[in-house]
Amino acid sequence: AAGDAAEQAMIARRQRLLGPAYRLFYAHPVHFVRGEGVFLFDAAGTPYLDVYNNVASVGHCRPEVVEAIARQAAILNTHTRYLHEGILDFAERFLAEFPAAIGHLMLTCSGSEANDLALRIARKHTGGQGVIVTRLAYHGVTAQLAELSPSLGPAVEPGPHVRLVPAPDGYRGTGEVGAAFAAGVQAAIDDFRAKGIRPAALLVDTIFSSDGVYADPPGFLAPAVAAIRAAGGVFIADEVQPGFGRTGDALWGFARHGVVPDMATVGKPMGNGHPVAGVVLRPEVVAAFGRDIRYFNTFGGNPVSVAAADAVLSVIQREGLRENARTVGAYLAAGLRRLGDRHPILGDIRGAGLFIGAELVLDRASKAPATAETARIVNGLRERRVLISATGPAANILKIRPPLVFSKANADLFLATLDEVLAAL
Ligand code: PMP
Repeated sequence: AAGDAAEQAMIARRQRLLGPAYRLFYAHPVHFVRGEGVFLFDAAGTPYLDVYNNVASVGHCRPEVVEAIARQAAILNTHTRYLHEGILDFAERFLAEFPAAIGHLMLTCSGSEANDLALRIARKHTGGQGVIVTRLAYHGVTAQLAELSPSLGPAVEPGPHVRLVPAPDGYRGTGEVGAAFAAGVQAAIDDFRAKGIRPAALLVDTIFSSDGVYADPPGFLAPAVAAIRAAGGVFIADEVQPGFGRTGDALWGFARHGVVPDMATVGKPMGNGHPVAGVVLRPEVVAAFGRDIRYFNTFGGNPVSVAAADAVLSVIQREGLRENARTVGAYLAAGLRRLGDRHPILGDIRGAGLFIGAELVLDRASKAPATAETARIVNGLRERRVLISATGPAANILKIRPPLVFSKANADLFLATLDEVLAAL
């Protein structure tokens, strides 16, 4: 009870100081003081299994990353208009992880800044304004991106140059996924044309996290990418969530679909918690922008951020974390499907690597969303010290997205706890 009073006081203090726009997770919020590997610890030292946080992809407070940040911070940290070798060495190593057509890297501090820059470049390159995103997309916090982030809710209206298309939903959708998705994109292009708007870009999260996690069948993006290019627009792959090996097949979600984007944006796990993000692109798309516009981002690509990103990339490469995402992800998905044999509420298990969506339904035939039950499961797991979240239009899809260092033993603990929570529903 004393803990509860202290917690209530902290919630009230937060509200008073930070104002009304923030939301806490959980009916009973958590307060962490330390992180290590795949665990977060509360003030009493109790560990919580992290099955949610994709940012700390090489493990919370990963020593190699912490040391790289500390080492560089003690040597030099300054803005990005001086020569520095760190950024060039990193850019070489990083660009080598992309298809050969991708030739430049521009660094920013957040995924939002990366998407914002990519859109400016797309509009300059194409001379168009129109942007196509999915119906429940999230792409960032800037004024421009809020209009392209319908998952923020009806209070944030899509801008006049924005068209929303249905997500590539192979569970509830009808018809072949790739053809259906491309038809939505083509309808958006036709609508732009009818209103005299030139299309600039198709911008999608290549794992469709906020839409509900859609990965299959591999290749479904290709026809939509062809459609936007035929209309004179570019394809921007938002890799902020799927990137850096999470999907298990490759470092980047677009690779799963056999397409090479005109630009890709990266962030979140790039610095394992340190704010570093960026845009990689085909040189030809940035030619006009580079000629006419001076781009300077004070902190984007500073030596300390680059040291963090370099350390993260090294750990992913050295420890084979994309392979770990593939094997542990397949193990986890198989375990969830086995739970589904006993718990009919588990209507669909999908995803790629260590990004899994589990869609909960009241009835497998009607697929009626089990929204209230999903909230109870997320909160029930939290009470049993396991962290996940929910996503999708009816908030009935469990979002299972642990750090990439997740092991089979961690997966077993998660599955056993979820089994208990489902049995107690
Ligand atoms: N794109 C996607 C797909 C995201 O999930 C997010 C963050 N949730 C962003 C962009 C924005 O990144 P940031 O919060 O670093 O600005």
